[in-house]
Amino acid sequence: MGEQVGYTPLIKADRLAKALGLGEVWLKNDTVNYPTLSFKDRVVSVALSRSIEMGFDVVACASTGNLANSVAANAAAAGLTSFVFIPSDLEVGKVLGSLVYGTNVIPVDGTYDKVNRLCSEVADKYNWAFANVNIRPYYAEGSKTMAFEIAEQLGWRIPDNIVVPMAGGSLITKIHKAFNEFRKLGLVEDTPCRIFGAQAENCSPIVTAVKNGSDLIKPVENPDTIVKSLAIGNPADGFYAYHVMESTGGYGENPTDAETVAGIKLLGETEGIFAETAGGVTVSATKRLVESGKLSKDSSVVLCITGNGLKTREVLEGTYHVHDAIQPTLSDVVGLMDSLKNSSNQKVEEAAWA
Ligand SMILES: *Cc1c(COP(=O)(O)O)cnc(C)c1O
Repeated sequence: MGEQVGYTPLIKADRLAKALGLGEVWLKNDTVNYPTLSFKDRVVSVALSRSIEMGFDVVACASTGNLANSVAANAAAAGLTSFVFIPSDLEVGKVLGSLVYGTNVIPVDGTYDKVNRLCSEVADKYNWAFANVNIRPYYAEGSKTMAFEIAEQLGWRIPDNIVVPMAGGSLITKIHKAFNEFRKLGLVEDTPCRIFGAQAENCSPIVTAVKNGSDLIKPVENPDTIVKSLAIGNPADGFYAYHVMESTGGYGENPTDAETVAGIKLLGETEGIFAETAGGVTVSATKRLVESGKLSKDSSVVLCITGNGLKTREVLEGTYHVHDAIQPTLSDVVGLMDSLKNSSNQKVEEAAWA
């Protein structure tokens, strides 16, 4: 599986850097990962390849959305039957983004953590390969490709800082592991990298632990946030994620949902990238880290942008004003420009007078 997965662009983000008050900023853009537009195609590529080697005919997962999309698509391409278990309140884009591949979508009335516990039992009962349950060790290794590519695309060096969104805490720990493997192999110089984690305020068990300075991760019972892809209340790798941040001199931030939406917009307006809520969290967490002095102008920062905004469009609904439709006449355009000239919309005003 997965001939075309990964090797997504690493973009030098000078306009975003300026907006955030940073110097050297790079974006690892997994909003355009293949085939389902999120970082999850990396982990599924490895998990499903191994499942096929091990002779499984049925693949499955417990998912907050993106994993389900990727398991469904990759199963279809490999001719495997698939079952994806999701919390019943996911975004329309994530549900349709699984159904279209002919998978069996099983909505479960409950949080992701309940879905995940159920899937452990299902994996015992049926002979299915659950990407993130009984096949999880292979799934987790797939995350390393993100860091391998970042080091290569930076010209075989490790960035000074990296900001990573966290759900179960797997990606952040594997980024750390991958940089260490490259150091050990001598492919990069052994320079330090501070690793920072981002979660949504209303579901931030790992960041809360980091802020409290204790590796005791207190589960969040009922996550209530627009950042559904990261809404894991009881993160499987939370303990390890804590120690990655702690041991590298990193930290965690947990912006509000409003900051997340602002982060999505800032990324769109400065870099032309439409990210999902997890991307908004990553951008707004970075902003907080600059404000608190944890990140500064004199070092390089990579932001992991892990999912595509077309899947979580509802969070932007009602946050923009769109003009009433005009007639297809030049005079209507001129009239509109005149009215905008007097409005506070500076951007259109500039365009009108350019
Ligand atoms: C799954 C996911 C992550 C990382 O999840 P971990 O469980 O911490 O590995 C980050 N961003 C998005 C969009 C995801 O779907």
